[in-house]
Amino acid sequence: METLIGKNTAELEASLAAHGAPAFRGRQLAQALYRRNIRDLESVTDLPQNLRARLAEQFDVAPCRLRSTSSAPDGTVKYLLDLPDDEVIESVFLPYPGRVSVCISSQVGCPMACSFCATGTEGLARNLTAGEIVDQVLFMQAQHPAQRVTHVVLMGMGEPLLNYPSVLGAVRILNEEVGIAMRHITVSTVGVVPNIEKLAAEDLQLTLAVSLHAPTDELRSQLVPLNEKYPVARLMQACREYVEKTHRRITFEYVLMAGVNDTEQEAHDLGRLLQRQPLCSVNTIPYNTTDVASRYQRPTPEATRRFREIVATYGVTITQRKERGHRIAAACGQLKRSALRPGSAMRPLPMFAAAAASPLSVVPAPMKPHA
Ligand code: SAH
Repeated sequence: METLIGKNTAELEASLAAHGAPAFRGRQLAQALYRRNIRDLESVTDLPQNLRARLAEQFDVAPCRLRSTSSAPDGTVKYLLDLPDDEVIESVFLPYPGRVSVCISSQVGCPMACSFCATGTEGLARNLTAGEIVDQVLFMQAQHPAQRVTHVVLMGMGEPLLNYPSVLGAVRILNEEVGIAMRHITVSTVGVVPNIEKLAAEDLQLTLAVSLHAPTDELRSQLVPLNEKYPVARLMQACREYVEKTHRRITFEYVLMAGVNDTEQEAHDLGRLLQRQPLCSVNTIPYNTTDVASRYQRPTPEATRRFREIVATYGVTITQRKERGHRIAAACGQLKRSALRPGSAMRPLPMFAAAAASPLSVVPAPMKPHA
């Protein structure tokens, strides 16, 4: 059944007009769904009872249902959500002082097959609808009513720019209906060049993040197969045009993997590459160990520090992502893998023991599955 969440005010008005309701009823419904966070028609008491009953025959309200959660002591909560066709996605709630971020998925699985990514191993099941993308935010907001969500990052499962119409539709609803500032919505892409160009033409004030991970084609193609199709120079050209068009800064994400892309050589290459790039910064992320790509390891703190120092000498802004939820496997696709393993509902995997040895991580404790 079609869901109401995912329709903007004009579309809700049209759906209600089919039942003879005047336009203001659509606006009331939009307010209830997107501002008051109501998830069942019974509670939309400003709509007449008979209208609610007719809508209920035709529509479900929300597509996402809770499957399980795991929480970290820092307040991070990771959600596994069931969709109407029993596919499963993951979303993460990340409270910080003065801001609340949610990390959401754009696809079930991912076709990009990056060699270090847990989601990449499962391939693509399907694209999410705009409603399923928006509802992840609304679902988590309803779970945490006292903490207003201020930031949304599309860094969960999937490649957002391969699900372009739904992602753009969702971004617009989050901005216009839910009231999240456009600048506080981050779309993270592995570098789907034609759709970066398309996004530039929309001239939105959203934040674009590009998963670079390596400064040279030789190395990047090993980590990100899409690099064969859109090599580094072509990606950088698209990013320059994006910045010229939107005047928005691009963040290059760089997942540091010990001995793979964290050496002084790569730091110099990265500094030289980005020196020529306008309005950009680098965000390093220590690799989150997964059970699928065990050949990759986290960098040492010394290597991380040295890498950042070298890149900075080129005048490139470089920051380190504050680590959250490592022990609850908050890297792309990890919780889903651990939770869905046959016979191992939400049991911690051996990788948590390995993670505990790293000075950057927190001590692992058993995850707390909720109903
Ligand atoms: N497909 C998009 C968004 C999803 S992944 C993209 O590639 O940008 C969000 C980020 O998490 C990407 O930068 C991705 O490379 C990174 N990532 C994936 N697996 C990781 C892991 N095990 N540890 C740290 N970061 C990881």
